[in-house]
Amino acid sequence: MNMKSWLLALVAVSSALAMSASFGQQNRDWNAIQITPHQVAAGLYYLEGTGGHIGLLVGDDGIIMIDDQFAPLSEKIYAAIRKISDQPIRFLINTHIHPDHVGGNAYFGGMGIPIVARDNVYLRLTQRGTAKAALPVLTFGAAVTLHLNGQDIRVVPTPPAHTDGDSYIHFLGSDVIHAGDVFRTVAYPRVDDQSGGTFEGSLAALQLLIDMAGPNTTIIPGHGVLSTRDDVIKFRDMAIEVRDRVSRLIDQGMTLEQITAARPTADIDAEWGFEPPDLLLPVLYNELTHAN
Ligand SMILES: [Zn+2]
Repeated sequence: MNMKSWLLALVAVSSALAMSASFGQQNRDWNAIQITPHQVAAGLYYLEGTGGHIGLLVGDDGIIMIDDQFAPLSEKIYAAIRKISDQPIRFLINTHIHPDHVGGNAYFGGMGIPIVARDNVYLRLTQRGTAKAALPVLTFGAAVTLHLNGQDIRVVPTPPAHTDGDSYIHFLGSDVIHAGDVFRTVAYPRVDDQSGGTFEGSLAALQLLIDMAGPNTTIIPGHGVLSTRDDVIKFRDMAIEVRDRVSRLIDQGMTLEQITAARPTADIDAEWGFEPPDLLLPVLYNELTHAN
């Protein structure tokens, strides 16, 4: 192994460790966490707790649920859903594999609720030794549409972005899209390259979201605040700007350590970061130096 491949391997390992820490359950006081419902449109809600926002479409045909946060919160989440509706949960859709989005799969799948997700979500959960009750029972490779509660609900796979199993859920009747973690308003783009995510794919996926949305579409991010298509455009433009800055520094012959030390996003960290781009830079560096 030459020096460069050794360093790249080191980057891969440290980014994997950072990822598992950042997506894992860590040490949290689960008892202190409240599940707060927010109404987005008629019959459409998201639940805020800790982890990814849970989407809920409620109507005469029952409840469509998107994601289920961390396992220790399942009973609280179920209680919060029951305060909104006593209808049965008909389907649980997973936007991607991270434990702050699928941690409750065993609980809800164990209740007999069919879990729906992309083929890659099923593959990766299976590879990670996930219990049978927590696995999707219906998987797809191309877009699928549910016809419930008087509207079409399109579940659309994205290019490899945050992971290689991301989906957007588009409630066409409500003009609302749940974007999973491809679009979050809390930090720079997060690319889990250990789960097949890519930065260039994230840009393509954001373009897909921009194309799917209209000027009045409400977008529920995986984490953060309700947004519009214009917010996604600004986020996508920021991502392109960060990539171009890093690319220029690579062209000047700088190493990842030098680029990180140069703080290429210092002037925009306050607006976009809430955290420095420490998780993004290694992935971006790796991807840009492997291009061509
Ligand atoms: Zn995620």
